[in-house]
Amino acid sequence: MILILAPNVDQRGDDYNRLIDHLTNLPNIQARVHQEVGTLQTLTEIYLVGDTLALNLHDMESLPLVERVVRVSEEYRVLGRHKGDNRSTSFEYNGLHFGQDTLHVFAGLCAVDTPEHVEIMMRALQEHGQVCTRMGAYKPRTNPYSFQGHGKSCLPYVFELAGKYGIKVIAMEVTHETHVAEIREALQQTGHPTGIMLQIGTRNTQNFELLKKVGRQQDFPVLLKRGFGITLEESLNAAEYLASEGNRKVIFGLRGMKTNMGDPHRNFVDFAHVPVIKRLTRMPVCVDPSHSVGTRAIDPNGILDISNSTIQGIIAGANMVLVDFHPAPSKALVDGPQALQLRELPYFLEDVAIARRAYEERVKLIKRYQSEWATEEGA
Ligand code: PEP
Ligand code: MN
Repeated sequence: MILILAPNVDQRGDDYNRLIDHLTNLPNIQARVHQEVGTLQTLTEIYLVGDTLALNLHDMESLPLVERVVRVSEEYRVLGRHKGDNRSTSFEYNGLHFGQDTLHVFAGLCAVDTPEHVEIMMRALQEHGQVCTRMGAYKPRTNPYSFQGHGKSCLPYVFELAGKYGIKVIAMEVTHETHVAEIREALQQTGHPTGIMLQIGTRNTQNFELLKKVGRQQDFPVLLKRGFGITLEESLNAAEYLASEGNRKVIFGLRGMKTNMGDPHRNFVDFAHVPVIKRLTRMPVCVDPSHSVGTRAIDPNGILDISNSTIQGIIAGANMVLVDFHPAPSKALVDGPQALQLRELPYFLEDVAIARRAYEERVKLIKRYQSEWATEEGA
């Protein structure tokens, strides 16, 4: 059960203390307070777990400061959509709005290699009006002898260059909690020139200890990639781990499933699940066509499979695209063969815009028909 309190509640006030006293004395119930500090207001929600079936909804609604009460199902308590639940599906980070109704492209390097390549990439992004990117510093690799990323040594120049070219958010994978501390330190050293979205990769989707650690910090939002060999439900529960620890600024990333049924693609593209996640949860949904498709194969018109898959995700309502680009793909240390070239950036962005417009038209279309059907039913 979730108690949603009136905005800007004073946590030192008498009413608040009385409420907490009352809740902590309820038998077999534990209360956990979650605060969301926004630009305009601070929202406080109290999560009650335990024997909540014994609690009466109306009694709880009449408690001081309580504005609304939502009885949640067992599944995805914090991130799920529940009956009568009109909690927000969006969050703000570093001046950007991420929600189930927005779209952001994160084009960039799979792995940071040289400062020159980072700068060329960021300059191109700025030239094309982009304020987000992806930059891998910590790379989990199948082969222990492969390049594992430059780690913390590249962070200062990556962050400074991001600031120079107006990049507001960099998606960056972390594979260990120490990486979060290294990122925080480098941001401090460089004067916070940019923001970071921590990425949990598909190999770590069920690394529960990492999820708990990353969930306990609220400085950075998190992009959680779907596990490539587990069920959707298991991956959504992994996202719930982050939220249950306090961080609900979570974006869920589809990146294809590992099975030879997807051949000749690197993974079986799973973007048909975009609307499923939006229906089950309040998370914005990201698609990663690069790691799903994994090749630069083209269709008979010359359109890349990576582009076709991107569009399939967007036309179904995806909110974020994570895509590999490289100024010199043949020199890339990781995933060069799937990287798009910089001259393809304006083309890719225009293609994305076409699909986004088509999605918006589709939403308008269903709304128009729904209102006609409602009128017919009422007549
Ligand atoms: C990545 O985005 O760089 C990556 C390794 O993705 P995934 O974890 O989905 O394989
Ligand atoms: Mn990669």
